[in-house]
Amino acid sequence: MQKKYDLAVIGGGPAGMIAAGRAAELGAKVILIEKNPKLGKKLLITGGGRCNITNAEFDVKKLVAKYGPKGKALFGSFSRFGVEDAMAFFTEKNLPLKVEAEKRAFPVSNKAEDVWKVLVEYLKKNKVEILYNSPVSKVNFAGNKITSVQTKTGLISADNFVITTGGKSRPETGSTGEGLEWLKEMGHSIEEAGSALVPVKIKEDWVKNLSGLSFMNAKLSVFQDGKKQESRSGKLLLTHFGLSGPLVLNMSQNIAELFKYGPVQLELDICPEMDLSELDKKTLDSLSRLLNKKIKNSLGEVVPIKMIATVLEMTGIDGEKEVNVLSREERLKILKLIKALPMTVSGFLGVEKAIITSGGVSLKEVDFKTMQSKLYENLYLAGDILNFDRPSGGYNLQICWTTGYIAGQNAGVHKNLG
Ligand SMILES: Cc1cc2nc3c(=O)[nH]c(=O)nc-3n(C[C@H](O)[C@H](O)[C@H](O)COP(=O)(O)OP(=O)(O)OC[C@H]3O[C@@H](n4cnc5c(N)ncnc54)[C@H](O)[C@@H]3O)c2cc1C
Repeated sequence: MQKKYDLAVIGGGPAGMIAAGRAAELGAKVILIEKNPKLGKKLLITGGGRCNITNAEFDVKKLVAKYGPKGKALFGSFSRFGVEDAMAFFTEKNLPLKVEAEKRAFPVSNKAEDVWKVLVEYLKKNKVEILYNSPVSKVNFAGNKITSVQTKTGLISADNFVITTGGKSRPETGSTGEGLEWLKEMGHSIEEAGSALVPVKIKEDWVKNLSGLSFMNAKLSVFQDGKKQESRSGKLLLTHFGLSGPLVLNMSQNIAELFKYGPVQLELDICPEMDLSELDKKTLDSLSRLLNKKIKNSLGEVVPIKMIATVLEMTGIDGEKEVNVLSREERLKILKLIKALPMTVSGFLGVEKAIITSGGVSLKEVDFKTMQSKLYENLYLAGDILNFDRPSGGYNLQICWTTGYIAGQNAGVHKNLG
């Protein structure tokens, strides 16, 4: 079954929502196609759930400079729909905003959900049809025009299309990069995300003091806002600045992505091959042969010798005591610690800039006056799908508001003109 719309927007994140709403506000018949059962899953986790909605830098020159050399493309866009316009868009819809350190703007309520609600209401008010649970699997085109997109329930055709499927970070929110694949097939140049593998700096001194210690098989877990983001195992090295070795190098891209948005904690398990009870059994076994020895001289089978003093210090257990007075509780305290040694990421070594490159559609192939593709006359692009370098501080979402609004304005206006 084929339905006809003035505009089909693919991807219901912040860029897609504002684009669809704006086009509909101008009178276009708009459908917003989203793969998830809910819109804006990533928006809901922005700013640790508080949503750093923009950066209140009203000086366009200074604002553009924040995006590095690629920011130049945004000069005109910000004068069409800039930070003040975005802030007015939300405040006029009863979402008061406040500005914190480094000009970061947040909703006064500190709730990303309230930003989400404004956008959902905007879509509803302007009668945007929303297709949930509908991953677009293919984009059909002929010559330099898109003709339709394929969903589970059939083809959807429209006069114009906006692709706002986002980048590739946090794929569990729906941003899995399909949009980039279609656009590549269609002949757009897609620049890869900066894939620098970088060692990770750690705040805690104990790590630096153990510089040179390595683990053939350690497990590293990554946390943000108390939620586990990922765990991997492999070879790890403690250094004078923090962590290196294949395990952390391979995880560094993801850690860096998280670090852009807030503090990142790590937990190091130095005995991943055993669970706590297995490790306890092994420890009991070895300690039973060393009952009259000092604790500090008896943990060598489970903790590298060089690390014993650190572990005892962190647990507050007196290493001068004899093993026979070590309580079960104290023993478990040691074992729990070596299965989850806490660390705080403080930065990255070397090419810090490379890791904030997000990748995406080459900016040269987009007309920033309208957000129209230079390759396809009825295609518009907005949001994270574009290859900007984005520092943290509300600058990402501002790109979404600016490019999304302009895309909606231009992709939706054809009908009125025609
Ligand atoms: C943890 C975290 C915190 C952040 N905090 C901030 C912050 O405080 N301030 C800030 O400015 N930026 C922040 N960002 C960045 C910000 O979230 C992104 O810039 C923004 O979400 C990008 O919006 P988008 O609409 O371009 O894409 P997305 O938000 O990625 O949305 C894309 C949408 O497209 C859908 N989709 C994908 N493929 C398909 C398909 N095939 N068919 C149909 N639908 C599809 C997805 O399900 C998704 O809903 C944060 C990012 C993360 C990961």
